[in-house]
Amino acid sequence: MAKLNVENVDVQRRSNDYVHQVYEQVKRRNANETEFLQATREIFDSLRPVFAQHPEYITNGILERLTEPERILTFRVAWEDDSCKVHVNRGYRVQFNSELGPYKGGLRFHPSVNSSIMKFLAFEQIFKNALTGQPIGAGKGGSDFDPKGKSDREIMRFCQSFMTELSRHIGPDIDVPAGDIGVGKREIGYLFGQYKRLKGGYEAGVLTGKDPSHGGSLGRKEATGYGTVYFTDEMLKEYGMSFTDKTVIVSGSGNVSIYAMEKAQQLGAKVIACSDSSGYIVDSDGIDLECVKQLKEVENKRIQEYVKTHPEARYIEDCSGVWSIPCDIALPCATQNEIDEESALLLIKNGVTAIGEGANMPCTNEALTIFQEHGILFAPAKAANAGGVAVSAMEMSQNSMRLRWTAEEVDDRLKVVMRSIYESCIDAADRFGKPGNLIMGANVAGFLKVADAMAAHGLS
Ligand code: NAP
Repeated sequence: MAKLNVENVDVQRRSNDYVHQVYEQVKRRNANETEFLQATREIFDSLRPVFAQHPEYITNGILERLTEPERILTFRVAWEDDSCKVHVNRGYRVQFNSELGPYKGGLRFHPSVNSSIMKFLAFEQIFKNALTGQPIGAGKGGSDFDPKGKSDREIMRFCQSFMTELSRHIGPDIDVPAGDIGVGKREIGYLFGQYKRLKGGYEAGVLTGKDPSHGGSLGRKEATGYGTVYFTDEMLKEYGMSFTDKTVIVSGSGNVSIYAMEKAQQLGAKVIACSDSSGYIVDSDGIDLECVKQLKEVENKRIQEYVKTHPEARYIEDCSGVWSIPCDIALPCATQNEIDEESALLLIKNGVTAIGEGANMPCTNEALTIFQEHGILFAPAKAANAGGVAVSAMEMSQNSMRLRWTAEEVDDRLKVVMRSIYESCIDAADRFGKPGNLIMGANVAGFLKVADAMAAHGLS
């Protein structure tokens, strides 16, 4: 028995040493890429027990290979504004991992885009896409282009220039981009049009998030927000709770936020606040979602306009203040690192019981630790927001089969996928000694699928 314990300690030490050494190497190689290091750190912390049980992953150098993108493309995007002035932006595509299928992940157009943000998003996508159980690898791309304030023609010219370069590197069986912040169906339409023109053929499966009237899947627009709420609801059910009569706060008022609010309301919750990058609104009667959709999806206006037609609501400048509003459930659906230590403590002080991450990495690692220490129910992004990419994979299937599922069929499939992701996370957390810990469960369950494929495919 004593010998066994010594062996166990040795195995554990070897696993810890391995994780530590690889992390030090990742830090050296990616110095100053804070978001990427934050994302890898969070994963590494979960994986220690896995290497203790599976030393073959150490022998195969899985972690070293998994943290180095297969390919990073950066390119110049020159375009002309309406006054014929030339602008140059930088384009990116990080093709991180193709063990499970073609690279898959969105394109983000936002001035904050840089190599670190692209790499963290593509890295997280590996685990998320694996969790969906669909045959998709992982990538992410975008540009530091700011679509705000640009005319429709300027957006079109930018998208055409961006795709002219990107088209050399993508294809339905190679890499299938989609939307993300700043890239919706309008941008996907322009990108697709340019790809079609350059290739001289109609390869519907090269992009997802297309308009349902020409090649897109019904239910894709709603999928990430609905999926986040379905996953959070599974977690609540486990503890005898539900969305019914709960007070909910959602950050952002973009694609993910709007459909998270819609599904939370459909499940009986009262959503009382949402935001954009300028500020937030509080409507204690419950947010009028049709008004938010009109402002954001149709008129492209700021959230502050809401109070003009809803005098009972308040608008407060400073988007981070949204976390000071007392609520039962918080759904961060805007951007990375929007909940820091201070916001986490404020949410807890005000009685929050559950967090469901709709955005990618919206909580800092310090905030994650605080939520865990206080026993807050936590649905991590890699699992909770995987509904979007899952329905993107369904769009690829429909494009390949040249048929179209109804919105109800897609939604039914989405529910099944979210339930199955939840079960995979619970199983993995149980198996590796942290029952109920969905952060660890999501990281490990996603990792195992990719690691096994990497081992099976040999060294590359
Ligand atoms: P989106 O439609 O462009 O919306 C983003 C929203 O967040 C906008 O309302 C934006 O406001 C707001 N915002 C940005 N920074 C903010 C801040 N610091 N505080 C408060 N609000 C802020 O983008 P999206 O597609 O919904 O994506 C949102 C998040 O979900 C991202 O993390 C994305 O990576 C993740 N995600 C998206 C999908 C998808 O299917 N779209 C799938 C998985 C994950 P402004 O209008 O003022 O900029």
